[in-house]
Amino acid sequence: MQTYGNYINGHMVEPVSGEYLDSDNPYTGEIWAQIARSNVADVNAATAAASAAFPAWASTTPTTRGKLLNNLAAIIEREALRLGEIEVRDNGKLIAEMAGQTTVMAEWYRYFGGLADKVEGSVIPLDRASTLNYTRYEPLGVVGLITAWNSPLLLLAWKLAAALAAGNCAVIKPSEFTSASTLEFMPLFEEAGFPPGVVNAVTGLGNECGQALVDHPDIVKLAFTGSDATGQHIYQSAAKQLKPVTLELGGKSPNIVFEDADFESAVMGVISGIFAATGQTCIAGSRALVQRSIHDAFVERLTEVAGEATIGDPMSMDTHVGPVTTEPQFQKILHYINVAREDGATCVMGGDLYTGPGSAGTRFVQPTVFTNVTNDMRIAQEEVFGPVLSVIPFDTEEEAIQIGNDINFGLAAGVWTQNIGRAVRVSDALRCGTVWVNTYRAVSFNSPFGGYKRSGLGRESGQEAIKEYLQTKSVWIAQDSSVANPFVMR
Ligand code: NAD
Repeated sequence: MQTYGNYINGHMVEPVSGEYLDSDNPYTGEIWAQIARSNVADVNAATAAASAAFPAWASTTPTTRGKLLNNLAAIIEREALRLGEIEVRDNGKLIAEMAGQTTVMAEWYRYFGGLADKVEGSVIPLDRASTLNYTRYEPLGVVGLITAWNSPLLLLAWKLAAALAAGNCAVIKPSEFTSASTLEFMPLFEEAGFPPGVVNAVTGLGNECGQALVDHPDIVKLAFTGSDATGQHIYQSAAKQLKPVTLELGGKSPNIVFEDADFESAVMGVISGIFAATGQTCIAGSRALVQRSIHDAFVERLTEVAGEATIGDPMSMDTHVGPVTTEPQFQKILHYINVAREDGATCVMGGDLYTGPGSAGTRFVQPTVFTNVTNDMRIAQEEVFGPVLSVIPFDTEEEAIQIGNDINFGLAAGVWTQNIGRAVRVSDALRCGTVWVNTYRAVSFNSPFGGYKRSGLGRESGQEAIKEYLQTKSVWIAQDSSVANPFVMR
């Protein structure tokens, strides 16, 4: 049994309460690790360490910070397989995906390391000759970074790389379901040369440890990935202290297939959108909008290909669909399958838990496809976060756009067409942060990512993300300091 404490000021320390939470392996069901059940006292200690480290860290040169982030990137690449295997064990993610994901994660640290000394203020051309006015970007202080369970290290990289490059210190709170990889990751900062206290991690329950972090007065900004319900709650809590937030929340993304699409590519794209990562991804293309003229043939081919997916051991490179990460999530998926049936959708594939070969008797759901779905049904409007696809027919381009946008979320969308004009028109009209044309589920360190509507606030990745962790100061220097009339604005 592995036991993880909190990582504070460069050391693994026991939680103040002495209490731990179990972490299971979603594939075997076995409890394999324990994580600290932290409370206000642990959050106070981590925040104090980060606050103490902040003045020195903020005054390192951006180039120095960039070098350290580059050191870290190289260490991540060395450790990628080990970190990936921990996520497979703790999270049930597929090794086939994790082998690449933990390696590519290094690129976020490298990119923001490179960006650190390229954030430039400006000299403002004032309408007066006697004053120099320039802007500079300054770090915020100690930031609180809260992550979801579905991709702990990658979601952390999207926040932490930018936060550190900008000169902030961090207290991290990973999900109580999948904290192990974050704790294994922490000592790598020391090896890369980061001073103790710059990066800290505390683990525990959302309403205890997470809320304590949100409410701590010395945490000056929050970056959160998780459900829209928790995101709204955190936004309200943060408002009491006027803390800025970045929120990466849920989605119900349309994957729109036009009759002029490359048929086989679109089938693969829809499958990758909903069954990759067992559908446990914010960008799941959980609504397939398919033009009526090809609807039946498309569903037939989709279920044929998806029906061949290998379900089972996430450590096998041949597995396509793994277990559901958490028990509450497993129950939620089964609940939504019932809801869809009750509301009149037709289950044409799956629709039950999976107990076949490779299931190891644990939390597996069959890849599931519903047809006869209308966009007002709960299965079309609410995030399931599992391998459950709703297929909705449409007739015209206008109708596809209307259905695609008729949702509270706005994270991503897919568009499958060979018509370039249509690709541009539909991409422009969709109200979401990312549109993929003839591809799906692509992200990059240098491309902004974030949600419209209830899918979130702010952007991660890309140049603008570093500004989420900086504030602008405007400096005025008068060349002539004589004051003619002190009672009027100058
Ligand atoms: P969640 O909201 O239940 O938990 C997310 C994190 O918030 C966890 O660390 C949890 O402990 C913490 N938390 C819970 N209550 C808290 C509180 N009161 N104060 C502070 N922290 C608190 O979400 P989840 O089930 O872990 O993750 C799944 C959700 O995440 C899905 O909705 C998914 O779409 C979303 N997600 C979004 C993105 C994105 O980039 N937009 C990426 C991945 C996942």
